[in-house]
Amino acid sequence: MPTKFLLPEDRIPTHWYNVVADMPHRPPPPLHPGTKKPIGPADLAPIFPMAVIEQEVSDQRWIPIPEAVREVYALWRPTPLHRAKRLEEALGTPAHIYYKYEGTSPAGSHKPNTALPQAYYNKQEGVRRLATETGAGQWGCALSLACRIFGLECTVYMVRVSYDQKPYRRLMMETWGGTVIPSPSNATAAGRRILEQDPASLGSLGVAISEAVEDAASREDTKYSLGSVLNHVLLHQTVIGQEAKAQMELAGEYPDVVIGCHGGGSNYGGLCLPFVADAFTGKKVRFVAVEPAACPTLTKGKVAYDFGDTVGLTPLVRMHTLGHAFAPPGIHAGGLRYHGAAPLISQLVEDGLIAARAVRQLDTFEAAVQFARCEGIIPAPESAHAIRGAIDEALEAKAEGRPRVILFGLSGHGHFDLSAYDAYLRGRLEDYDYPAEDVDESLAGIAQLQP
Ligand SMILES: *Cc1c(COP(=O)(O)O)cnc(C)c1O
Repeated sequence: MPTKFLLPEDRIPTHWYNVVADMPHRPPPPLHPGTKKPIGPADLAPIFPMAVIEQEVSDQRWIPIPEAVREVYALWRPTPLHRAKRLEEALGTPAHIYYKYEGTSPAGSHKPNTALPQAYYNKQEGVRRLATETGAGQWGCALSLACRIFGLECTVYMVRVSYDQKPYRRLMMETWGGTVIPSPSNATAAGRRILEQDPASLGSLGVAISEAVEDAASREDTKYSLGSVLNHVLLHQTVIGQEAKAQMELAGEYPDVVIGCHGGGSNYGGLCLPFVADAFTGKKVRFVAVEPAACPTLTKGKVAYDFGDTVGLTPLVRMHTLGHAFAPPGIHAGGLRYHGAAPLISQLVEDGLIAARAVRQLDTFEAAVQFARCEGIIPAPESAHAIRGAIDEALEAKAEGRPRVILFGLSGHGHFDLSAYDAYLRGRLEDYDYPAEDVDESLAGIAQLQP
């Protein structure tokens, strides 16, 4: 029985899969925050190129991947599918555990899968520069790389606390030629407003989004790029699930359950949506999205219209949300900190197709370390949520004495997140469940946004 299932380069998918074509309930459209009417392509044109806007609203099932993008995908795609035999043995489970590993990309995560086409389409439409935000730096790295490859400038607003504490990803971005600005910054009105209130602000992803959107909207030569949440991002990520399906076929199995970590929904959407297509046609397969208890968007949030950012510059998006003012506590080290979720994933959770689970960070890091000690790869703390979910499924199979086939997404490696491992290994991490009362309070703040 092989340990890895590998596909040749000519099996890099030729199309992205657009789940919207097959959904029984499509997510309702984003609204203009002023008029509360659905936004049109013209509203998005200042910040996104037309090809991306068309994909965002497309209901075409298969969308061709430009050959120039496939050629760059070939730098690391197809990514490997592993059978976690050593983990299975350590757990003593009859379950078969497979993982699709996206950490082999140059940036170390799945994020270049969408950064590349986004940079490509912008270049095609004559855009000279992209602006974006980044938290721990994975997205900024992916976009800096993609911009370098397709000949664009890249400006990354990086959450201040990460900028100060995580220099390595900043240096990766700079190595690929990106310009990195700590957020909140004096470069934008949104940043200046936050700094006036709190000159020592550590920043947040929401504030950084506000800065990047403002940068793009106020400059003719610049557009904005988002690394998760939106339909076109999940679309681009479906190369993961399409390859995984072909690789599971090589292994001669089909998953009973497909598991992934969920922050904004892009790696999980990319892995699960091609399998969701099978579920729509009657195939028996379960889906589990795993998120941190400290940022419980899918399990404690509510489905409502909310801003994508903190300041309120984006359209209103209907999704599971903890409220745009939500910020997870500093003690939470595992990433996946965004207040919202991809509308596509939200809808599938609402429709009961995808189950959501929240896990605590000590259990999550315990799973990460167990995985690293069996399989060798040190997982990104984000990915460790998926590992926790997979191990729990495997232990359930053991308790039942029945085999099951588990597929999970290992979205990236953790080589630049070792400070979080340091905190765990030195006993400095604590569990934290975001209290329901605080969620209610945060959600009260979005009541007036509803149409
Ligand atoms: C960004 C990131 C995530 C979370 O984002 P999603 O959009 O939910 O995928 C998960 N894992 C890794 C390695 C990441 O870099």
